[in-house]
Amino acid sequence: MPAEAPPLISPNLPATPAPLGDIGGCARALAAGSETAVGLAKRSLERARALQPTLNFAIDLLEEQAMAAAQAADARRRSGAVLSAVDGVPFAIKDNLVTAFGRTTCGSRLLEQYRSPFTATAVQRLLDAGAVPVLKANLDEFAMGGSGENSAFGATRNPWDPSRVPGGSSSGSAAAVAAGVVPFALGSDTGGSIRQPAGLCGVCGIKPTYGRVSRSGLVAYASSLDQVGPLAHTPEDLRLVLSLIAGHDPADSTSARANASDLLTELEPALPPGTKVRIGIPPQARATANAPAVLAAMQRAERSLRAAGVELVDVDLPHADHAIAAYYIIATAEASSNLARFDGVRYGQRAKLGAGEGLHELYVRSRTEGFGAEVQRRIMLGTHVLSSGYYDAYYLTALKARRLIKGDYDRAFAEAGVSAVLMPSSPGPAFAIGEKSGDPLAMYLEDVYTVGVNLAGLPAVTVPGGFQPAGGTTPDLPVGLQLIGPPLSEATLLRLATLVRYR
Ligand code: GLN
Repeated sequence: MPAEAPPLISPNLPATPAPLGDIGGCARALAAGSETAVGLAKRSLERARALQPTLNFAIDLLEEQAMAAAQAADARRRSGAVLSAVDGVPFAIKDNLVTAFGRTTCGSRLLEQYRSPFTATAVQRLLDAGAVPVLKANLDEFAMGGSGENSAFGATRNPWDPSRVPGGSSSGSAAAVAAGVVPFALGSDTGGSIRQPAGLCGVCGIKPTYGRVSRSGLVAYASSLDQVGPLAHTPEDLRLVLSLIAGHDPADSTSARANASDLLTELEPALPPGTKVRIGIPPQARATANAPAVLAAMQRAERSLRAAGVELVDVDLPHADHAIAAYYIIATAEASSNLARFDGVRYGQRAKLGAGEGLHELYVRSRTEGFGAEVQRRIMLGTHVLSSGYYDAYYLTALKARRLIKGDYDRAFAEAGVSAVLMPSSPGPAFAIGEKSGDPLAMYLEDVYTVGVNLAGLPAVTVPGGFQPAGGTTPDLPVGLQLIGPPLSEATLLRLATLVRYR
C-alpha cells in the first residue's frame, strides 16, 4: 500500500490565492485542460506576492520571464508539442544559481547588482523542458548557514510557524515549496542545505551524488562538496526533476558520465514481493540528544519500512562524530579560495575610495562592506586553516577524517549489505528566529547528520517523518528523515523514500 502523503501545506496559511500543490497535480491539470500554464504562473505569482511580506522567501519575482515562458508553454500544448512533464509548471531558483535574466545576488550585498551573462546548466535544462521560472529564492549569503537568517535581504521564515527558521541555506526554496507558492524549486547542498530546510519545512529534497548534476553556474561555496538538487512535495516529483537536470555537462568537468536512464521510470510505491532490501540504522539516529519528535519519527519510519518488507539492521559509523569538524575546516578552506574573486574589481560592488587610497584599500573596503559577518568569519577560518604552519594540523587532518568518514559508509554498503542508511536530517524541529544566530557553534551543530554525506560524496533524500505535536495555539512542526545511499543510487533511494510514513 502506498504511504499516505503528508499534508502539502500548513493549515495556518491563507487558502487564497490557492496553493499550487505538487508537480503531479499541476501536470495532470494542464494535460486535462482544467489549467493553463499562464493561469498557474499568475496564481503562483499572486500567492508569492501575498505571502512574501510574512515569509520573505523571494529575492526577486520573475514576472516577465514567467509570463513569457507560460505563454510559450500554452502555445506548445495547443499544437501538441509538449516538451516534458514539467512543461508549463512553475518553479523557484535558489539565487546562487546564475540566470541570464534578472540579477543573481547569492543573498549578498556584494552582488546586489550582479547580472550573469549565462544561465546555470540545471536551470537551463528545466527551461528547455518547458518549466516556468517564477522567482529567485532567498538563501543564506553564499549558501553559508543553516537557518536562512544570514541573508542580506532579511531572514526567511518557516511557513508552518513564521516565528521559526525554515532552515538553510536553501531557505527560500524550501519555504516557497512548503507555502504552496511553487510545486518545486532548485536548491544547492554543500553540507545539508537542501535536506535540512526540506526537513524543517515538511517537504522532500534530494542531494544527488557528487557530480550527478552539473555545477556549472552554481556560484561556488566549497567546490568538492557542492551539489545542485530539487525540493518538492513527493519523492516522485524529485525523481522527475532530477531526471531532467542530471547527466554529464561539458561545462563541468567533475560532472559524472552516468546518464539519467535509471531515473526515467515512475517510482513503484511498493517493493515487489520476495525482494530483499536492507536498511541500516546507526546508533546516532536513536541517540537521546535528538528531540522526542525526531525519535518518534525514526520509530514510525522503522515500523513502516518493516511493514513494507524492508529488513532493518544496525550499522556503525564510527567516525561520524568528526564530520562537523572536518566539514567546517574543508568547506571554509575551499570558500576562502573561491570567494577571493569577489574583490570589487573582477566581481562585486566596488567601494568608494578616499583621497590617497589605493588598490589595497579598494579590496579591503569592498570586501568589508560587501560580505556579511558569517561569510567574513568563514573566509578568516578558511584562510587560517590553510596558512603555513597550520595546514597540516587542520586541513590535512580534516582530509584524513574525510577518508575515514567515507570508509564508514563504504563498509556499511559493502559489508553490512545495506541499500541505504536511515537517520534524521536534523536533531530537532525548526528553532526560533534568533535562537542560534548569536552562537555559531550551536548553529554548526545543527548540521551533525548532513555534512558527513557531502564529505563522502553520497546521494541522500529527505522526506517528512512526522510532526512535533503542539498544544494550544502553537503550530505543529515538521521533522525530516533522510535516506543515504551509495553513489548513483538515487532511483533506489527515492523508491525507498516512498515507503516512509509520516504518521
Ligand atoms: N549549514 C551548512 C553550512 O552552513 C550547510 C550549508 C550548505 O549546504 N550550503 O555550511
